[in-house]
Amino acid sequence: MLVSALSSEIRTEILLLAGDAGGDAVRRRAMGAYLGLAVGDALGATVEFLTPNEIRSQHGQHREVIGGGWLRLRKGQVTDDTEMSLALGASILANGGVDPLAAAEAFSDWMRHKPVDIGNTVRRGIATFRRTGVPEMPQNEFDAGNGACMRCLPIALATVGADADQVDACNQCQAHVTHNNPTSDAATLCVIRMVQAALLGGDRNDLKLLADALVAEDAAFTYDRKRSENPSAFIVDTVRAVFQALFATDSFESALIDVVNRGGDADTTGAITGMIAGALYGPAAIPARWVRHLDKRIRHACIEQAQELTKLSPLYAVCLQPR
Ligand SMILES: [Mg+2]
Repeated sequence: MLVSALSSEIRTEILLLAGDAGGDAVRRRAMGAYLGLAVGDALGATVEFLTPNEIRSQHGQHREVIGGGWLRLRKGQVTDDTEMSLALGASILANGGVDPLAAAEAFSDWMRHKPVDIGNTVRRGIATFRRTGVPEMPQNEFDAGNGACMRCLPIALATVGADADQVDACNQCQAHVTHNNPTSDAATLCVIRMVQAALLGGDRNDLKLLADALVAEDAAFTYDRKRSENPSAFIVDTVRAVFQALFATDSFESALIDVVNRGGDADTTGAITGMIAGALYGPAAIPARWVRHLDKRIRHACIEQAQELTKLSPLYAVCLQPR
């Protein structure tokens, strides 16, 4: 699927961004989003499945990329969140657009290489694709895990500037390979739109409007009541923790430390918070000590895909192309 239309709501913002400085800013923030995703994944994985109390007794406040955790990771190693994003991103670049079959094949190749971690719904979706050749699972009310949302960043970058329904259609191409669920789709679209708003220079209040629109659509996502601790992989639990951390803090570092110290599915809350906060605050706001420890091959792939995927977007076609 190739996206060519440019959203009218974004056209005004493009005018504000017009000129080389605007283009540079979008590309820089795209890099922040991709590095933020990987850093959040690596930081959170250390404390995945721990409760906040267990984290406190083992680490005090967890704030360094040190590896370990239940997956016994090397320092700076990432998990399925980042790896599946890179697999999806590579398939989009190879095809010049989002293609469900190419995404399914990319996920299947990734699974063949014995990933360090893989969710049950993801494994089942890929196994079904291998058996049937159909890159879309039937709709299932129970497949509302966070596995499609954690890998949505390449869609956000490749479709920045497109209308929401086109972005949604592109996202469903990748999401439904494993997770065909309206709650997962709605939350993932919201996360993508938050990343895109931040890429275009939106601030925290702009992102909050998008989160509040999701809550208005489905009250299950209400995030301003009870503090979300030990969030599960259920997409509602996951994004509520992400929203709370994002809106209670004012820097990349404090948002990430806040969310991963809630424990639970901390690599994925870290990854999703990281992609949004990385776009919002930019790559220079990501602590150098975290980026430095990232696996070098992963770091390079993130930076390269951030640049190349953005070039496929309608926004790039209109105003970011070198004259
Ligand atoms: Mg993971």
